[in-house]
Amino acid sequence: MGKRKKSSRKPTQTRVRVPLDTAFTCLFCHHDKSVTVRIDRKEGVAQLVCRVCDQRYQSKVNHLTEPVDVYSEWKEMCDMLEEQRKAKEVGEASVRRS
Ligand SMILES: [Zn+2]
Repeated sequence: MGKRKKSSRKPTQTRVRVPLDTAFTCLFCHHDKSVTVRIDRKEGVAQLVCRVCDQRYQSKVNHLTEPVDVYSEWKEMCDMLEEQRKAKEVGEASVRRS
């Protein structure tokens, strides 16, 4: 049996304040870090905008909302719209065919 070191626990409380990522990849033009999120907590709104293709999205925020939350919300919305668009395309295609 080897010796047990009592204090081998690493201090994990190195809470470095990393500035939160506020620039993301655009879902439309796919430019890296072209999408920025600005959160206005006073107004309770977040503005997401791509400086390359000018895509915009606005969302409501609370005091816990982080830019990445707004981004993922936008992403979800875009996924949904994309699905709707596809569904519509399929529908229109079948209408055209008949
Ligand atoms: Zn873009």
